[in-house]
Amino acid sequence: METKPDTLPDAHGHFGTYGGMFVPETLMAALTELADEYGRAKKDDRFQSELEGLLREYCGRPTPLYFAERWTEKLAGPKIYLKREDLLHTGAHKINNALGQILLAKRLGKSRIIAETGAGQHGVATATVAARFGMECVIYMGAVDMERQHLNVVRMQLLGADVRAVTAGQATLKEAVNEAMRDWVTNVRNTHYILGSALGSHPYPMMVRDFHRVIGREARAQILEREERLPDALVACVGGGSNAIGLFHPFLGDEGVRMIGVEAGGHGIKEGEHAARFQGGKLGVLQGTKTYLLADEDGQIQLTHSVSAGLDYAAVGPEHAWLRDQGRVEYTYATDDEALAAFKELCEVEGIIPALETAHGLAHMRKLAPEMGADQIVIVNLSGRGDKDVEQAAKYLLGEEEA
Ligand SMILES: *Cc1c(COP(=O)(O)O)cnc(C)c1O
Repeated sequence: METKPDTLPDAHGHFGTYGGMFVPETLMAALTELADEYGRAKKDDRFQSELEGLLREYCGRPTPLYFAERWTEKLAGPKIYLKREDLLHTGAHKINNALGQILLAKRLGKSRIIAETGAGQHGVATATVAARFGMECVIYMGAVDMERQHLNVVRMQLLGADVRAVTAGQATLKEAVNEAMRDWVTNVRNTHYILGSALGSHPYPMMVRDFHRVIGREARAQILEREERLPDALVACVGGGSNAIGLFHPFLGDEGVRMIGVEAGGHGIKEGEHAARFQGGKLGVLQGTKTYLLADEDGQIQLTHSVSAGLDYAAVGPEHAWLRDQGRVEYTYATDDEALAAFKELCEVEGIIPALETAHGLAHMRKLAPEMGADQIVIVNLSGRGDKDVEQAAKYLLGEEEA
C-alpha cells in the first residue's frame, strides 16, 4: 500500500525521499523547538481561534471564489473560477503564513523577526505582521530584486522594517535566504525566522503548507456550495510551492480532481534561462531540504531566470517533488511571454491585474481550455495582485507593441 498523500511528512519531515533537515548543528535546537511548539499550537484551540479571528478581521478571509464569466466565454472551454487571494490584506496569499508564524514566534517568546524575500510580497507580509505585533523586523532581499520590486521595498520601510540588500552571487532570492540563515544562526535566542514558502528544513514545508491549507478548504466548500460538485481541475503557479500546496492539499483525497502546478519557463528550457525545476532539474540539497533543483554536473546551483521575481528560485518545495513522483500532481511551465500575454488578457477581460507569478498559472489555463468541455470546472489560484508588477509589465508589453 502506498502512503496516503495527506499523512505526510513523517516526524523528521520526510516526504518519501524528499524533505528532511539539512542544516548546521547550531540550528537543530531552534528547529526542534519550533517543530515541538508548532505541534502544541496546532492542537491548541486558543491558538487556532486567534489565528482564525485575525485571518478574518485583519486579513479579509474568506476570500471569494469568483466565476470569471467573460474569460470563460473568451477561452470557450470549461467554467473558470478564480480563488481571489489577491484580495487579501497586502495583496497575496503570503500573509496566511506570515500571520501563523508570528503567532508562533509570540508563543516562543521571540521579539525579533527576520525573513527573506524575492518579489517582496513575503517581505511586505512579514513587515506587516511584525508591525501588528510590535516586533523588530529585518528583511533580507537580493539587490537585483530590490531594483525590480522597488515599490515593495518602500512598503516594507514604511511598515518599519530594516530592508538589507544582499549583493552576493546572483543577488536574488537564494542569496537572501543564505543571509537570513546566517542571521538566524547568530541571533537564534531572540529571533524567529519567518520562511516564506513551503521550503527549507523541517518543520517549515509542513508548517507553511498547513497555514495555507485555508485556501483549499475554503475553495472546496465554496465550489460545493456554488456548483454542488467538485472541480475537474485545479491550477496554481509554483515558486517554492506554498500557494499551490495550500490549494491542492485539501483535495488530495479527491481522485477525480486533476491538479496542475505551473513553474517559470523564463526564456525557454535552456540552462540558466528558466526556473522550471521539474524540467531538467535533479535531486539535491539546498538550504535545508532535499528536493528537485537546478544544478550542474558538479552539483553547483545554476542561474535561474523568470520575469517574475517570486518564481525565480532554483529549488522547489519537497512535497511537490513527492507528489510529482506519485503522479498525483502534474507539473508544467509557462514562459515569460506566455505569462505576459495571460497577464494582459486578464486585465482586459476581467478587470483584474494579476501578479506576474500568478500569470504563469493563468497562461496554463489558456492552454488547458481547448482540451476541456463547457460542462467542466477549473479553479485557478489567483495568488496575488499585480500592482507591484505594473512597471515591469508595461516595459515588456509596451516594448513589444513598439517592435
Ligand atoms: C511569492 C508568490 C508566489 C510564489 O510563491 P509560492 O510559495 O510558490 O506560492 C506566487 N504568487 C504570488 C502572488 C507571490 O507573491
